[in-house]
Amino acid sequence: MHTPLIGVRGAARCGATRAVWCSGRVDGIDPHIHVDVKLGSDVVARDILASAFGLAGDVPATVTTGCGVRAPLAMTSASPERVTCLPCREYAHGRHALMAKQFDEFARLPGLAVSYDEAVRVAAWHRDLARRFAGLDS
Ligand SMILES: [Zn+2]
Repeated sequence: MHTPLIGVRGAARCGATRAVWCSGRVDGIDPHIHVDVKLGSDVVARDILASAFGLAGDVPATVTTGCGVRAPLAMTSASPERVTCLPCREYAHGRHALMAKQFDEFARLPGLAVSYDEAVRVAAWHRDLARRFAGLDS
């Protein structure tokens, strides 16, 4: 009897047909690489706290993904070239495109502690990631 563990809904949403899922992966393990719904911000915050205070909390074993399933953190990536789940790629593209737009607007605000050039550079970084998640060349 096939008893999926994690990611059945994600596999279906990733474009994998149920036939491929059931015949190819009878162990019930989702073979796709997803994106963390928080785009790895928890891991970045953990690294900042660890470098500032020398303390490192545990990273979560599983995370909610951009496609809405729970998956092991090890099966997620922030690198567009590694993410194989199409809904997660679309999610990350949309989030990075939105952040690029927000940093573009942020750069125009007067009196900020962040310089115009820094805000523009961060916007460009998000724009590049958005393009790569969309499968476009940077
Ligand atoms: Zn996914």
